[in-house]
Amino acid sequence: MGEFVVAVDGPAGSGKSSVCKEVARRLGFSYLDTGAGYRAFTLHALRNPDRQLEELMASYDYEISMDPDNPWVRLGGADITSEIRSDEVAGAVSNYARLPEVRALQHGDSRSRIAASQPGVVAEGRDITTVVAPEADVRVLLTASEEVRMRRRGLDGGEDPSNVAVRDASDSKVSEFMTPADGVALIDTTDLDFEQSVSALLDLIAKVRHG
Ligand code: C5P
Repeated sequence: MGEFVVAVDGPAGSGKSSVCKEVARRLGFSYLDTGAGYRAFTLHALRNPDRQLEELMASYDYEISMDPDNPWVRLGGADITSEIRSDEVAGAVSNYARLPEVRALQHGDSRSRIAASQPGVVAEGRDITTVVAPEADVRVLLTASEEVRMRRRGLDGGEDPSNVAVRDASDSKVSEFMTPADGVALIDTTDLDFEQSVSALLDLIAKVRHG
């Protein structure tokens, strides 16, 4: 385990990426976007439609930055930071994320990155509090009402909001991230703005770090 581990799960559009990145920045921690790994694998699969899963896994050459000030993702050495946010990738990612082989690959990768993070890390995804780092120092489920999540996604200018509900429904069959597991704190950002959401997470962390 790294020095101090903050695990955050939640559905799409809950604001967890921007909140986690900002919290990591303020604490001088690393930031791990585990969804980016599933997205990168999906892009790799979409680019190589003739390859079987085994071949895809063997040829998967992926790198990710854990610097919250400069997050990037590379595939085969080439930058794919924006490409993994496309509707095409978002529409297909759940299909790959549900494969046990793909999950095992990402779990191993995430666990070793978390373990190597000094002085700490904020890791976000769908199964970080439950499967990847259930022993994390702080475990949080960050959520918001469906209406607010759709609106935020629309404002992002990224994913088609109608995709979000489909993706969440499909992802929830693989990981439980709509209700917190035992010992996992809930932060509902429906009525919180960005700064209030950041403070809510920082407060929880401060309680654990400083008693
Ligand atoms: O977090 P983000 O929306 O970028 O995640 C993209 C996709 O990756 C999710 O829709 C889900 O299918 C998958 N994922 C996952 N487990 C995680 C993180 C992401 O299955 N821990």
